[in-house]
Amino acid sequence: MEKYWNPVLETLPREQLQQLQLKKFQNILKWSYEHSPFYRSLYKDAGLEPGDIRTLDDIRKVPKTEKSMLREAQGKEPFPYGSILSVPIEQVTEYRQTSGTTGQPVYHPETWQDWEWSAESWAYALYAQGYRDYDRVFLPFGYSVNIAFWAGHYAAEKIGCEVVPGGVLNTEARILKMKEIKATAFMATPTYILGMADVAKKKLGIDLPKDLNIKKITSAGEPGACIPATKKRMEEMWGAKVYDQVGATEIGHWGYECQAQAGLHVLEAFHLVEIEDVETGASITEPGKRGSMVITTFDRFAHPCVRFDSKDIVEWSPIERCECGRTFRLLKGGVVGRADDITKVKGVLLAPTAIEEVVRDIPELGDEYEVVVIKKGDIDDITLKVEISPAFKHDASTVEQKLAQQLRLKTGLRYSLEFHDYGTLPRYDVKAKRFKDLRAKE
Ligand SMILES: [Zn+2]
Repeated sequence: MEKYWNPVLETLPREQLQQLQLKKFQNILKWSYEHSPFYRSLYKDAGLEPGDIRTLDDIRKVPKTEKSMLREAQGKEPFPYGSILSVPIEQVTEYRQTSGTTGQPVYHPETWQDWEWSAESWAYALYAQGYRDYDRVFLPFGYSVNIAFWAGHYAAEKIGCEVVPGGVLNTEARILKMKEIKATAFMATPTYILGMADVAKKKLGIDLPKDLNIKKITSAGEPGACIPATKKRMEEMWGAKVYDQVGATEIGHWGYECQAQAGLHVLEAFHLVEIEDVETGASITEPGKRGSMVITTFDRFAHPCVRFDSKDIVEWSPIERCECGRTFRLLKGGVVGRADDITKVKGVLLAPTAIEEVVRDIPELGDEYEVVVIKKGDIDDITLKVEISPAFKHDASTVEQKLAQQLRLKTGLRYSLEFHDYGTLPRYDVKAKRFKDLRAKE
C-alpha cells in the first residue's frame, strides 16, 4: 500500500537526482530526434545532435519549443496530431486537446503507456496530499475531450481510493451526492470549489463544513490554491485542506503541494524544470527572482515535450528540504502568473492574480470579481467590479477605502471601483474569464 511513497525516488540526494534527470533528458531527446520529424528538423537546423548533450548545463543549447510551434506542427501529417507524433498512429489510445482559451486547440495523443505514466504522476501527488485506500473521492466534473481530472480519477483508483464520478450531475446534485455518500475528498478548479460552497449554503441550506465529511480537496486547472487569500477562503468554507496541483495537456502533471503546504513540489523524477528570466533569457537557479518556466517531460513518448516554454511565471523556494521528507525542489507560491497574462496598464506591469489576492483577502467582499481595461482617449482605465456581502452593504464606503488602498499597495494602480449585489457577477465552472482587456491591440 506504500507504493506511492517511494523514498528511493522521492528522497534522492540532489546530485543523484540530477544524474537521473540528465539521463532521462538524454533519453527523450534521442527519442524525439529519431522519431519525430518536427524535432529532427528543429535540431538539425540548430546543428544539434543528441550526443552533444553531456551535462545539465549543455541542456540550454537545446532549442526551446512553444505553443505556436505545436499548432503549426499539427497542421502537418498525420492528421490530427501532425509532425510531433513519435509513434505509429495505431498505437495512440487517448485523444485529448487543450481548452483553446488562447486560440486554436492543440491536439494531444497518448499511447496506453503514456496514459499510465500520466495517472502514475498524479498518484504520487495525491498520495503526498494524504489520499489513501480508505478515501471516497468524488469528481464533480464533466469529463470531456480536455485532460482535466481524467488522470486524477485514474490516479485515485491506483492508490486504491473509491472513486465516484459526478460528471453529468448539476452542481446541486453533485453536492447532495457528496453528502449522501459521505465523500472524504474531491478535486475541482478553485472557482468551482468556491462556487459549490456558495450553492451548498445558499441554495441547499447545507451547514458547511459540518454537514459534509470532506477532509481534503485537490485544486487544479487554474491558479487559486497558490494564492494565499483564495486558499484560506476555500479551506475555511469546506473545513478541509486544499492542495494546489498543476499540469497542462502538452506537459502532463508536473507540480503539487504536499501535506506540509510549503510551496509547489516539482515532480522532478518525471520532469526537468528550468526557470528563465523573461526579458534576458538568463537561467535562474536560485530563489529570489521570478521567471518563465521551461519544462521537459521525461517519459511520455507519443508527443514529446522537450524544453517547452510554458509561459508560467514561477520562482524557486528558499526551502531546501521540505518537512515531508521529499527532496523534489519547491516553487514558492506555485504558479504566480502567466507571461501571456501580464500586461502593461498605465505603464505598470500587472498580473491579474495580484488583484485576486487583494479581493479574496477582504472578508466583506464576495468571491467573484471582474476586471475591465479600456482606453479613454490615450489613457488606460481600469475598472474592478466586486460583490459586497449583504451584511456590509450599509458600510460600502469603508470597504471601498480599504479595497482602493490595498490595490494601490499590491499592484501600484488606481482603479474605478464598482460594487455589485452579492451573487450578480458571472460564475464559472472552469477557466474563469475575469480579466477583460478591451484595449485595441497595436
Ligand atoms: Zn513536501
